[in-house]
Amino acid sequence: MIIDPIKQGLASGWDHRDGALLTEDLTLEADVAIIGSGAGGGVSAEILSQAGLKVLIIEEGPLKSSTDFKMMEKDAYPALYQESAGRQTADKAISIFQGRAVGGTTVVNWTTSFRTPDRTLDYWKENFAVEGFSAQEMLPWFLKMEQRLNIDTWKAPPNENNSILQRGLTKLGIPSHTIRRNVLGCWNLGYCGMGCPTNAKQSMLVTTLPAALNSGATLISRCRVEKIQFKSDQVVGLDCLALDASGNRPSGTKVTVKAKHYVLAGGAINSPALLLRSKAADPNKTIGARTFLHPVNAVAAEMPKRVEAYSGAPQSIYSDYFQQQDHAQEMGFKLEVPPLHPVLISIILGEFGEHHASLMQRYPRVHAMIALLRDGFHEQSQGGQVKLRDDGSPLLDYPITDYLWDGFRRAWKSMAETQFAAGAHRVIPMHLDSPVMGYSSWQEARREIDELPLQALRARLLSAHVMGGCAMGEDPKRSVVNSQGRFHHADNLWVFDGSAFPTSISANPQLSIYGLAAKQASGLAQRLTGTIPVSQSA
Ligand SMILES: Cc1cc2nc3c(=O)[nH]c(=O)nc-3n(C[C@H](O)[C@H](O)[C@H](O)COP(=O)(O)OP(=O)(O)OC[C@H]3O[C@@H](n4cnc5c(N)ncnc54)[C@H](O)[C@@H]3O)c2cc1C
Repeated sequence: MIIDPIKQGLASGWDHRDGALLTEDLTLEADVAIIGSGAGGGVSAEILSQAGLKVLIIEEGPLKSSTDFKMMEKDAYPALYQESAGRQTADKAISIFQGRAVGGTTVVNWTTSFRTPDRTLDYWKENFAVEGFSAQEMLPWFLKMEQRLNIDTWKAPPNENNSILQRGLTKLGIPSHTIRRNVLGCWNLGYCGMGCPTNAKQSMLVTTLPAALNSGATLISRCRVEKIQFKSDQVVGLDCLALDASGNRPSGTKVTVKAKHYVLAGGAINSPALLLRSKAADPNKTIGARTFLHPVNAVAAEMPKRVEAYSGAPQSIYSDYFQQQDHAQEMGFKLEVPPLHPVLISIILGEFGEHHASLMQRYPRVHAMIALLRDGFHEQSQGGQVKLRDDGSPLLDYPITDYLWDGFRRAWKSMAETQFAAGAHRVIPMHLDSPVMGYSSWQEARREIDELPLQALRARLLSAHVMGGCAMGEDPKRSVVNSQGRFHHADNLWVFDGSAFPTSISANPQLSIYGLAAKQASGLAQRLTGTIPVSQSA
């Protein structure tokens, strides 16, 4: 029997309020109010509550747990993802996947864990005046979070989807490596993106948030922070809207929050959007700017044998070969594979009618590879700008420059070559103008990929790594928060999430966010209590 730690915790008396069940307006008070309960919010909640501070966590998504996670896309996407997994950039060219639940995106992520590469940290210091984030200074925070979240090299053999990546690269003489994952007793099911049904994934839902609640924190779910109230250089409160049972519409009940300090951890896109909605001071127009996506393109391949890319640890092999080269003038990219579940693969493959049916019949033999572009390190890669729709909801405008298109084209070719090297019968770059049945040789693919029109909405592009928009740094003209995460224009507002990165990470970002939040929240705890709690020191 699988024990549900959330049900157990609730039964033991955790202070959880469900916004959808509120019948009258409510005012809540705390030492520290944390907006969002994902990677940044969860880590902050544990550290601040264990430092003896009264912590309130406000989350717009629902509180779901392993009992609810049935490995079904139809349930997971509407319940656990922003905009029911339908979020897109303003021109609809890039689909954006982000979580929306207690535990944030960590509830649905695929558990791949990398430290921030040294050269990214160096770049921040040199180009964005970020202090205290050298590789040496970050090492203890990564070690601390790796231990806390059981991050370790994946020991089981890779599933066939990952093996194909490994075999193809080996054939081409390109190095690949095994991924580290934040799991404990993983059943190797492959449904991480729908919420872990066995609680093996060490998401915030089953680690830091229970620890915070055990230390006396209060959690309010299905409650959206609509506005931060500013008075001169202070935040004086939060205006929140309780949501109805659907979790999407305001129920009409209001929640007011009063705290001494406020930690914004709504994730990239949502954190800067809340600042914009709140008309936060923004003299240099930095809020929401430089939002990055690790934009992803993909190539599917028909393999001779069954791949069953829906089964087994989603990501266990990667290669940084194409981003470690000296690509001063070229966009670099990381190679990985995605899990392929029926709804996701139908969307990626596109098509309809007979073509779609014929592709889906071959689904068990389909492999897919993705390239994650390293955006934010070049003058032609300045990221996107978060804006607000008329109703105040966020929208990301992300221009795709020639520099990025060149990266996508080279990535399609590298992926196709790798798949053919691994024995693919056919490869299909995810582009509307590639033939439905794909290309049957590397020579054909190389020639034809060079002819594909590089246009938004013709290439199928996606992102699951949203970063930036509240960049940190010591220069207020180029950043939103300082190197400790404090908003430049309010003494008691802090941003501890993936929005604080000045560029993309060039590696899957969760461990970078855990490390950042652990460092920043420990700094805040020390500032507020005057001591470094032993359990929190790195
Ligand atoms: C399918 C998928 C797979 C991924 N796989 C990996 C992986 O394998 N490895 C990896 O490193 N990364 C992965 N990621 C990305 C990673 O999980 C995220 O980058 C990370 O969780 C972001 O942390 P965060 O704290 O910035 O925001 P989130 O974790 O997104 O948390 C933000 C939370 O704030 C809430 N919120 C936002 N605005 C408000 C508001 N106004 N009021 C109240 N609540 C609000 C949101 O609902 C959300 O729950 C994946 C992402 C996806 C979508």
